[in-house]
Amino acid sequence: MSFSSFGLSPFLLKALSETNYEKPTPIQEIAIPAILTGKDVLGIAPTGSGKTASYVLPILTQLSKAEKAKNRHIQSLILVPTRELAIQVEEVFKEFARSFPEPQKVKAVYGGVSINPQMKAMMGVSVLIATPGRLIELAESNAIQLGALKSLVLDEADKLLNLDFQEELKRILGWIPKKRQNLLFSATLNDKVSEITQLVLHDPIVLKIEKEEDSIDLIQQTAYRVSDDRKGPLLRYLIRSRKMKQVLVFTSSTFKADQVVEKLRKNNIDAQAIHSKKSQDARTRVMRNFKAGHLKVMVATDLIARGIDIEFLPFVINYELPRSPKDFVHRIGRTGRAEATGEALTFVSPEDEHHFKIIQKKMGKQVPFEETDQLDLNGF
Ligand code: AMP
Repeated sequence: MSFSSFGLSPFLLKALSETNYEKPTPIQEIAIPAILTGKDVLGIAPTGSGKTASYVLPILTQLSKAEKAKNRHIQSLILVPTRELAIQVEEVFKEFARSFPEPQKVKAVYGGVSINPQMKAMMGVSVLIATPGRLIELAESNAIQLGALKSLVLDEADKLLNLDFQEELKRILGWIPKKRQNLLFSATLNDKVSEITQLVLHDPIVLKIEKEEDSIDLIQQTAYRVSDDRKGPLLRYLIRSRKMKQVLVFTSSTFKADQVVEKLRKNNIDAQAIHSKKSQDARTRVMRNFKAGHLKVMVATDLIARGIDIEFLPFVINYELPRSPKDFVHRIGRTGRAEATGEALTFVSPEDEHHFKIIQKKMGKQVPFEETDQLDLNGF
């Protein structure tokens, strides 16, 4: 399937051909045509699945065909739980909006910063990405008008509700036209989400993408039976013999992470640790270097694993197992983001065998083992 089969604007198809989006992700394959029908959509899809572009592309296509709204009349409103997500979504909209001869004006607004510059910047905005509290402030001060709204998106709806934005949402729903298209995206479907779904969506098309399972299928996994004292040499052997250029190694403690880094560096393998005991500055620097391909090995603990968003990471090595199977899936998920395939190698010591069986069961996948006791690790 390719992007050209959906009926997206030709300007977007041209823009897509210039990005690294070679083909639609599973959520995009089903969400883009569904949204283009004009119907409401409920998308159960987590971050990392390509869900943002799955609504950005059809919304921009629809707006490009619509009449221009009057000044300060928002045509598409995207409500998000956090400033970070607001900025991320704004970037995706802007990246694609600029491919049109008459680009839609896109703006993200959020609390925690002065409202005055945001009020002034509302001139001509047609796509607004907002956290609910700041949206209400802007609407109440007449900086924006919501009476001509064509589409409403609730992104990361589960998070919006966990942050207790229910009341704000209900107020906003009271201000917008009844006839509109509603899109709701959530990583999970719980009672709170179901309640808001009933309030917002009218006869929706329901789409479900289980990103973690999908991406697990893309990952080639191998487990190595190895005693604790041979883990260090095995790690160095694998990095060298497989000629790894970018590898993320997980340990279960900050102490172990530092120790692994020290050993790697002693053996002339470029490595840095990233964990909660490092300053924010140091973490940012290590991450930047690693992402840019200037650092070969990054050693991390689970606490920061969720914040690592790197596309096309070829290798993850579990030097030690995490306690929770969920963390295991999160760790190795780094290699299967948005359709890129990767390899996850897991070290299993004799004491870990039982726990690794549980992890495999929870993950619903059997991982092939390689024995290492015959492997000559001298010199590694
Ligand atoms: P999201 O789930 O929207 O947070 O997107 C996760 C990542 O996937 C982002 O870095 C996007 O740039 C990337 N992405 C989205 N769609 C595609 C695609 N069709 N092909 C490749 N990368 C994509």
